[in-house]
Amino acid sequence: MTVNIIETKDLSDVEITPENKCDFCSAKCCQYITQELDTPRSMHEFDILLWQIAHEDVHIFKDGNGWYLLAMTKCSQLLPDNRCGIYETRPLICREHSNNACEFDVPIDEGCDLYFQTYEEFDAYCRKRFKTWDKRIEKFEAERAKQK
Ligand code: SF4
Ligand code: SF4
Repeated sequence: MTVNIIETKDLSDVEITPENKCDFCSAKCCQYITQELDTPRSMHEFDILLWQIAHEDVHIFKDGNGWYLLAMTKCSQLLPDNRCGIYETRPLICREHSNNACEFDVPIDEGCDLYFQTYEEFDAYCRKRFKTWDKRIEKFEAERAKQK
């Protein structure tokens, strides 16, 4: 994650290298968090994801490593000039993040097999994946009625 960003500079006439790349970036890797998910398989598991993505700025994606929840939320330690405010004590995950092939090169939504930004997108995917997707609510309510 962000290394030692001084300012976001003009990209014209400059050779971008791993050493200077972060200087030209608006700290894209500090603007969100991800959480790996157990691979969803059942309709109920997809229904839970649908609830999660219904919340503002929550996205879902799948890449070669699996499924992830992504929350677009800027790190509280990011300074207005895009430098890390806790650079010397930043978390390990920030230290592990390489800028070799990062969000500066490929936006995260372009490097995934699947990327969903909205409830509607994810609902449409679930409808295609499960033929009985729309019937799940009816079934749930019928089963609940039986228990009363
Ligand atoms: S997204 Fe890449 S270039 Fe930008 S600050 Fe993070 S590691 Fe550096
Ligand atoms: S702790 Fe620093 S490097 Fe890590 S996400 Fe926050 S601002 Fe970025």
